Amino acid sequence: MSQFEQTLQPLEPKTLAEKLYLVRFKTDTESHLKVDLEKCKTCKDKKCIYICPAEVYKLVVSGAKLMDAKENIAVSFEACLECGTCRIACEFIEWKNPKGGFGVCYRYG
Ligand code: SF4
Repeated sequence: MSQFEQTLQPLEPKTLAEKLYLVRFKTDTESHLKVDLEKCKTCKDKKCIYICPAEVYKLVVSGAKLMDAKENIAVSFEACLECGTCRIACEFIEWKNPKGGFGVCYRYG
């Protein structure tokens, strides 16, 4: 089989974890995702936790006792795939592209 014919062969299916392994990031020190945490506290749905394919948003519960429990959203912007889904889903997220030279680098697919 020629090299040209090889490039026309269908790719092997990969799991999400396998695909994410092939992605590389050049991380900036400044986040390109700004979340208004005060408004975030009023949000009951917390859609960002469920819609992000890279699990950038995580619910963090702090407090020693159940009565003292406080919920906050932690944002791991370093893992952002720049798909823009959260930008559409949540009005409390200010989204901008990472600075030039930073962000995600797709090496496959
Ligand atoms: Fe997650 Fe996509 Fe939003 Fe990045 S742009 S934080 S990958 S939903």
